[in-house]
Amino acid sequence: MSLIVQKYGGTSVGTVERIEAVAAKVAAARARGDQVVVVVSAMSGETNRLIALAHEITPTPSPREMDVLVSTGEQVTIALLSIALQKIGCPARSYTGGQVRILTDNVHSKARIQEIDGGRVRADLEAGRVVVVAGFQGTDEDGNITTLGRGGSDTTAVAMAAALEADECQIFTDVDGVYTTDPRVEPKARKLDRITFEEMLEMASLGSKVLQIRSVEFAGKYNVPLRVLSSFEEGEGTLITFEDEDMEKAKVSGIAFSRDEAKLTILGVPDQPGVAYSILGPVSGANIEVDMIIQNIAEDATTDFTFTVHRNDYPQALKILQETAEVLGAREVIGDDSIVKISIVGVGMRSHAGIAATMFEALAEEGINIRMISTSEIKISVVVDEKYLELGVRALHDAFELDRPPEQAA
Ligand code: ADP
Ligand code: ASP
Ligand code: MG
Repeated sequence: MSLIVQKYGGTSVGTVERIEAVAAKVAAARARGDQVVVVVSAMSGETNRLIALAHEITPTPSPREMDVLVSTGEQVTIALLSIALQKIGCPARSYTGGQVRILTDNVHSKARIQEIDGGRVRADLEAGRVVVVAGFQGTDEDGNITTLGRGGSDTTAVAMAAALEADECQIFTDVDGVYTTDPRVEPKARKLDRITFEEMLEMASLGSKVLQIRSVEFAGKYNVPLRVLSSFEEGEGTLITFEDEDMEKAKVSGIAFSRDEAKLTILGVPDQPGVAYSILGPVSGANIEVDMIIQNIAEDATTDFTFTVHRNDYPQALKILQETAEVLGAREVIGDDSIVKISIVGVGMRSHAGIAATMFEALAEEGINIRMISTSEIKISVVVDEKYLELGVRALHDAFELDRPPEQAA
């Protein structure tokens, strides 16, 4: 007998009919003799609807109450799914994160799971029940409801699988696996049978929202076999795995992008020790995460300094930078929040040269101006104007022949 954790995302449980279809899939797995834990998201659109309700009252609702609010989305789904399972004769019991005892830290809206008590869930499984767990949530040590960040139900599923030592964690969604890039942007994107944890981690952190980044981290750390599949059709999906001999030998495995970017530049800062710290210190002091950073060579004893932040943090970062500019006697602060980041990812980059040149050539041929570049061992990212996102992704997909399996590619 295997123990399987299945996670169904928002669109997979978007209507009562879809919830009944999920119930049928879950019951079929149990009928095959597996023990099944199901983790569900809120019905699609529900989390956004709840957030918008609060914002009708105030733009700055308290983080604690926001977590109380948004965690209700998942609570609705666990109850409806359990009711649907019971209706077709499959014993089931629902649990909120707090009821399972998913203990998190107390950082509201982006809490991290610290510990899971698998006792109750195990007892139900032993008694032959399907256990339905609300994704995206837990409680801190004082019993406050916390949530795990957008897309957090993936992380709940992987963490449950790790805690229960499940045989596999299956992420059911509205696409049939992980693709070379988001198939909504590039229809020629190709489904991958396998992808390494390392690459998936980069793809997730560079903007591919198919899996929440923490779920991939968790799965890698605790060695949880992780698979992404469609809840709408049958198939093997994509297995996230450690690198092995017979994996595709591609130079580039996938393209990720993020629309949530903004960049800020401070011009004419005196070029002296401590400048970077004086500029970025106040930004990080305000809990704003900085991504790419560029400092120009000083020609006249002053320098220019550019960095990117999440678009939501742009107004606040701009304000902070303007204050810093006055203190430092800088010439000017400029910013742009209509930029995006496109990244190519692949473990094959370690052993192949010339990949950056191919990337820049493909963008140049489309007349796309690169505003910033950053590289690491298995990825290259560029910042470009928002209007070039689709064009850029498709041009790169073509340039690296990602629509064809690597054996066939030239
Ligand atoms: P769920 O609600 O099931 O959690 P998400 O919307 O969070 O689903 O994630 C699935 C979506 O991720 C897909 O519909 C697809 O548009 C997007 N996506 C982005 N990058 C990729 C990729 N490389 N492969 C597959 N899907 C991707
Ligand atoms: N419902 C949450 C969200 O929309 C969590 C999830 O779906 O994974 O972000
Ligand atoms: Mg998701």
